[in-house]
Amino acid sequence: MKENKKDIRALSREELRNFFQEIGDKAFRGNQVYEWLWQKGAHHFNDMTSISKTTRDLLNANFVINHIEVDSIQKSEDGTIKNAVKLFDGLIVESVLIPTSKRTTACVSTQVGCSLDCKFCATARLKNMRNLKPDEIYDQVKAIDQESRLYHNKPLSNIVFMGMGEPLMNYNNVLKSIDKITSEEGLAMSPKRITVSTSGVPKMIRKLADDEVKFNLAVSLHSAIQETREQIMPFANKFTLPDLKDALQYWYEKTNRRITYEYVIWEGINDAREDIIALVNYCKYVPCKVNLIEYNSIGDPAFKQASGQVTNAYIAALEKNRIPVTVRRSRGKDIDAACGQLANKQ
Ligand code: SAH
Repeated sequence: MKENKKDIRALSREELRNFFQEIGDKAFRGNQVYEWLWQKGAHHFNDMTSISKTTRDLLNANFVINHIEVDSIQKSEDGTIKNAVKLFDGLIVESVLIPTSKRTTACVSTQVGCSLDCKFCATARLKNMRNLKPDEIYDQVKAIDQESRLYHNKPLSNIVFMGMGEPLMNYNNVLKSIDKITSEEGLAMSPKRITVSTSGVPKMIRKLADDEVKFNLAVSLHSAIQETREQIMPFANKFTLPDLKDALQYWYEKTNRRITYEYVIWEGINDAREDIIALVNYCKYVPCKVNLIEYNSIGDPAFKQASGQVTNAYIAALEKNRIPVTVRRSRGKDIDAACGQLANKQ
């Protein structure tokens, strides 16, 4: 029965080598199979042509190869591509390829749905169904890399963990996927080109620092006033701004790497002078930059992008205080591929 067979991609290279040794074969057979699984992306044991038929049959009898299937592809008029990715159990997540003149970025999902409840995000409306496994995250990146080569004639240059889900609520699997993405036997990408975005889970940010990770950290702040933040991100009543600040200071002490705050400005929610002042003050705690994100409507009239004037007031105040600020324009809006719009609509 298929159910009883183990997913071979859950095994490390060492475990695969041991498996072959234990059955009286040579350990290096484990390396060969590992390469078929991770570099050549084999979906069936019978595709492993350098492995004998007897060994393939043995593998077939003991293991399955779980892998994702790109179920559908949508292309935006701005070049953005959204993949609906089917997992081995039939659940769907989405990932996005965002090309610009300088880089091609993959935006990948870490959970089916999301465990948090941000009021402005479409993914939050799906309940969290499960965490993705390391290979399911890795496979999304691999699929986007192939599309980048196919449609844009260049490999993927950056990865952002900003798709569906809260990466730090699936900590171990996210870190394992990044190990694979950055390792020589995976995609050999530099961790400097990877950014993990979190809604701000203090305990896990400390853990990242302790684990000495080498990738970048972005935090979805959206308000530096506790009461306001709780209204739009209700879980913030547990993960408070002072706790977040302490965790980020700890991160900076350990890693010496600047944080990026993601911030959307909404009319009547965080568009007042006091919101700007609170953000500027919060930015003084830890070296950081601010990324102002354009709001992508998910149909709730309570959330409306603030005017350009307010955005300019934010920019002026931040620049006056020497806090780097950038504005991120939406990409792929016409195919619901922009920030906060991933909700398996298709
Ligand atoms: N859970 C993680 C990563 C996923 S969301 C996090 O919260 O950071 C990626 C970014 O998109 C976050 O900054 C999030 O706050 C933002 N976002 C969510 N919904 C949005 C929307 N409707 N418009 C613009 N940005 C949104």
